Amino acid sequence: MIRIGHATKISGSDITCPKAAKILPLPIVNLNLALLNLIFAAMQLLDGKLASAAIKAALKEKVEKRLASGKRAPHLAAILVGTNGASETYVASKVKNCAELGFGSTFVRYDADVSQETLLAKIHELNNDAGIDGILVQLPLPKHIAADTVIETINPNKDVDGFHPVNVGRLTLGLPGFVSATPYGIMLMLEHYKIDTRGKHAVVIGRSNIVGRPMSILLSTQSAYGNCTVTLCHSATQNLKEICLQADIIVAALGRPEFLKADMVKEGAIVIDVGITRVPDATKKSGFALKGDVAFDEVATKAAYLTPVPGGVGVMTIAGLMQNTFEACEKNLRFRI
Ligand code: NAP
Repeated sequence: MIRIGHATKISGSDITCPKAAKILPLPIVNLNLALLNLIFAAMQLLDGKLASAAIKAALKEKVEKRLASGKRAPHLAAILVGTNGASETYVASKVKNCAELGFGSTFVRYDADVSQETLLAKIHELNNDAGIDGILVQLPLPKHIAADTVIETINPNKDVDGFHPVNVGRLTLGLPGFVSATPYGIMLMLEHYKIDTRGKHAVVIGRSNIVGRPMSILLSTQSAYGNCTVTLCHSATQNLKEICLQADIIVAALGRPEFLKADMVKEGAIVIDVGITRVPDATKKSGFALKGDVAFDEVATKAAYLTPVPGGVGVMTIAGLMQNTFEACEKNLRFRI
């Protein structure tokens, strides 16, 4: 067997796919495996679990060094409002990652009907607490709370989500500051796999303030994993398929499950799937499956590099957040990718 990133290439009649072996008679298993080998022959999986493990191991070591020299551990405060299932999962994962890296964490939760005043007062309290390095408020917020006001209340030097206008402005101007964790995580992924981006045409689908737009800025920046020519697409874009077919790099961040099909992708493209949508799936204990914005199986036949969902951008986002929190603790505000 030859390992390609996270994917496993299967050779000869060596049946290492127990699920397929259970379901299918032997000759069909062999045929399917041969087909799989052909399909995934040229594609390398960009494995977020591997890349984030390396980043987190390095961070853990740095935390241990801080503690050994008598300094305190980095500390993240996460605020959750309401009981949105996906948000609960994300915040729980962030708190768990803090524990794994030796960071401290404070989890503040409010009922969905909490007043904006109470929420802002808590943010002021955390801003003024010298023992807190990073503050995040999990989005989305209930409609009666103005997300912009909440974000602008966070001290930009503790804004480890990189959503504050000051940090967005710094990013736009090419100045140091905190970068939104998802696009930052994608940059860390490109760095981990040493993907050459210089001079490439990158197409970003989606222009949200937290993913698509900062991603387009990062890829266009004069930096090691930037220097792309960038096209930013959205729901009013015409000829999206033609534009995608010209792309060396596609970042799909639109929140439409399996939107990007093989016939929209150039042979040898680098495809980054940001999408995470819960779709009903009766075969799962949870009752849902997570789907990306890329039709993985068919795009894998054309792409040179592809991120899986889950195990791709999602885990890199956490790595980006942890890195930001560490830098906030080090007061390393000159930090930049
Ligand atoms: P969002 O705020 O809903 O933005 C979606 C963007 O996609 C908008 O700019 C929209 O265009 C564009 N769009 C929608 N349909 C389109 C179409 N048919 N063709 C072209 N563009 C289209 O979403 P988001 O917050 O950026 O998130 C996008 C996806 O990434 C979601 O699945 C989300 O769950 C996921 N996500 C994942 C992570 C992670 O850690 N992996 C983090 C954040 C988000 P308009 O501006 O014209 O409306």
